[in-house]
Amino acid sequence: MPTAFRFVLTIILGAALAATAAAQPSALLVRGVTLIDGNGGVPVDDTTVVIEGDRIAAVGGADLPIPDGAEVIDGRRRYLVPGLMDMHVHLRGGGSRRDGGAVTVEQERAGLRGLHSYLYAGVTTIYDAGNRSAFIFQLRRKERADEIVAPRIFATGGTVASPNGHGGPYLVEAWPEDRAVLDEHIATGPDILKIGQDEHGWMMRPLINQLPVDLLERIIRHYHEQGIRSTIHVSTERTAWEAIYAGVDTLAHPIIQAPVSDAYLEMMAVRRVPTVSTLTIGEAASRLVEHPEHLDETLYRDTVESEEIARLKTEQRAREQENGRTGWLRTMTPIAQENLRRLHAAGKDIVVCGTDQFSGPAVHRELELLVEGGIPPADAIVIATRNAARFLGRLDEMGTVESGKLADLVILDADPTVDIDNLKRIVSVIKGGQIVDRSALDLPVNRGPL
Ligand SMILES: [Zn+2]
Repeated sequence: MPTAFRFVLTIILGAALAATAAAQPSALLVRGVTLIDGNGGVPVDDTTVVIEGDRIAAVGGADLPIPDGAEVIDGRRRYLVPGLMDMHVHLRGGGSRRDGGAVTVEQERAGLRGLHSYLYAGVTTIYDAGNRSAFIFQLRRKERADEIVAPRIFATGGTVASPNGHGGPYLVEAWPEDRAVLDEHIATGPDILKIGQDEHGWMMRPLINQLPVDLLERIIRHYHEQGIRSTIHVSTERTAWEAIYAGVDTLAHPIIQAPVSDAYLEMMAVRRVPTVSTLTIGEAASRLVEHPEHLDETLYRDTVESEEIARLKTEQRAREQENGRTGWLRTMTPIAQENLRRLHAAGKDIVVCGTDQFSGPAVHRELELLVEGGIPPADAIVIATRNAARFLGRLDEMGTVESGKLADLVILDADPTVDIDNLKRIVSVIKGGQIVDRSALDLPVNRGPL
């Protein structure tokens, strides 16, 4: 065979082999692991989980056949949980919500660092409940195109509110006159509509406008007609009742202004409206004042820049000490915790993990606060996985470790159903069937001392 011809043939064969390798789904197998599947049952020892491509192909015992060429992970003395999900995030670094310019390189890097802190902490999906559209949708597009390493991103972009109400920039006063405002938002591609609905007048805040109930219903219906789910910021029981009967799909916060009534819990036992917990945002201020040393814990040191830790302990702490709302929130957090405990007792699929914060450690704090409030650790895991998938309307493809679902998983070296703190003992994070290289994330833990 002439040399040149053989050379060409080699290239063609080589290319064909490379193409075959790329087209073959990568297979991964976790063997001998204790499975906590996200449905809330007792952990199951000696489980085998088979992953093919980005999906879970099979879950079973030690006798499950091993696919050819599968990479085997030894799961003995390890615990497997679904990837955690934070269903109320405002990713930082993207600039003002009303900023119409292009996203800068620095802004994108700040966003990426936030996203990396989630992945590092075992969080494989976030929902951003309000941000600058250009910033969050650019990151979402890059994540979906596999151009960046990040958790799955679902996002709202700008929020909808009454003029002089809670949120924006999409302000609606009348129907159908302001329909174009909503269509402008829909054109940005939101996964979920987020409405801001509050009268304030609580803490040190002035009274503001609310959307009238008939307009609220009209807005929600307009999004539903285009297949878009809705969530709403509420803080009182009255606004929650109104929003639920106006057709809202989920609540972005629990009731925090007073203990909930028995009637509200009876109604929720029937309607089962996913309710995001967001205890961390309220507790963060008093925790910073009373326990600034929490920032020295490993997970914070690993993921929060040292200058930011220094700023929080000094400037920000001084500001919170003087801020009247810090005390108010310290008083109201136990009330919100008790409301969530009772809501969870009314229906195990209602409460959803969300922090209203911007980094991975907050998710672990949220779960600690739920457990401190009386919810068992095993249920807190369901709240951060299955119930979060239900919030997104995507329970058919995520949130539990079941055959056919996306392979978003976390492997731990201690049992989180015994102590929720063990959820921080992460051995590996798997997203879409790929092991995340936690040592390559853009975080302080991976940068040597300067
Ligand atoms: Zn929020």
